[in-house]
Amino acid sequence: MARIGFVGLGQMGGGMSRNLMKHGHSLRVFDLSADQVSALVADGAEAATSASDAARDADVVFTMLPIGANVEAAVFGDGGIAEAISPDAVYVDMSTILPDETRAIGARLAAQGIAMVDAPVGRTSAHAAAGTSTFMVGGAEKDVDRVRPYLECMGESITYCGPLGAGATVKLINNYISAVCNLVTAEGIALGLAAGVSTDTVVEVISQTPAGQGHIKTTWPAKALADDPSPAFMLDLARKDLGLALTAGAAAKVPMFTGAAAREMYNTASAAGHGREDWTTGIFRTVKELSKV
Ligand code: NAD
Repeated sequence: MARIGFVGLGQMGGGMSRNLMKHGHSLRVFDLSADQVSALVADGAEAATSASDAARDADVVFTMLPIGANVEAAVFGDGGIAEAISPDAVYVDMSTILPDETRAIGARLAAQGIAMVDAPVGRTSAHAAAGTSTFMVGGAEKDVDRVRPYLECMGESITYCGPLGAGATVKLINNYISAVCNLVTAEGIALGLAAGVSTDTVVEVISQTPAGQGHIKTTWPAKALADDPSPAFMLDLARKDLGLALTAGAAAKVPMFTGAAAREMYNTASAAGHGREDWTTGIFRTVKELSKV
């Protein structure tokens, strides 16, 4: 069983560190909040007096902190992890931070001979408590292989994404798509309410279509992901429907910022010659052309 240092015992880190203990590992834990540390000690962890104290003699050290500045402080600040972590240990940051922040921290640790893995987490704190998180992991494969058994104590899916920072990149892509879908869903349901259609009715309908189910497993596999432009649904017709919704939204004075921005891209795609292509392939091709990827 491993000796694990764990720093950051909030909504996520609390449940995750408990799951490591449930699998028999010994935990030395630190958080700026003494209450969070006490709660973990009550469940069998050893209290550390600082992040470096948590890292001392550990085989692996985890951080689960709000933002990049917190991670940098926990690693390189006074009493930070870098002061005590063994060169034989691996440092794993699971916080959601920028890939550039991850790589900067990793480069400073590498200069000290210490390996780092980034393993940001999908799903919610309820999943973290249940041990059913998902991990998007970046780093040298040999380092990822060393920490995989510990990640398996905390989650049920581990996706290797590439070199250090790649986990952070995939995490922010996931949250970007999710955050924008959240807003466009709110705009659409508000349009229904303004027109006297109940939320339940809209939910019942969109639950059966890509609007509610998401595109990636429904419309995209056969078309955009296969770069097949033959239309199941033509981009110019989707552009027309988007315009209809925006006209209805304007009449009802419902804010539809997401749709208004999307209309500009549908117009751009149509002007670039993608109007008669499948709506998914045409949009994906347009965004790729504009971003030169
Ligand atoms: P949280 O605020 O509940 O917990 C963060 C903990 O870190 C707090 O207990 C705080 O006292 C501690 N902390 C901050 N700076 C510290 C430092 N320098 N040293 C020691 N402890 C320090 O946050 P959370 O919800 O657990 O989120 C942690 C990370 O996980 C964030 O990056 C978040 O975006 C990400 N995340 C959260 C969820 C979620 O559902 N809550 C889901 C996926 C990912």
